[in-house]
Amino acid sequence: MFTGRTKVVGIAGRFGPRYGSSLRAKWKDVVVRRYQAYECPLCGFKVRMERISTGIWRCPKCSRIYAGGAYQPLTT
Ligand SMILES: [Zn+2]
Repeated sequence: MFTGRTKVVGIAGRFGPRYGSSLRAKWKDVVVRRYQAYECPLCGFKVRMERISTGIWRCPKCSRIYAGGAYQPLTT
């Protein structure tokens, strides 16, 4: 039943309430990192990398594809 209250769920809301808050926080962290700008190791521009698949990233600036981390373009 719709109560009229606004639920604050954010991007992690689609995982539903049966998942623990720690897991949601972890997922949010992953998503945030994924959309951060990273300095391209190939052209040096700081851009938002496009993830082709797990560990495969493409730089929108120089269009070159390179291997990186599974959830972020560059592993530290
Ligand atoms: Zn580049």
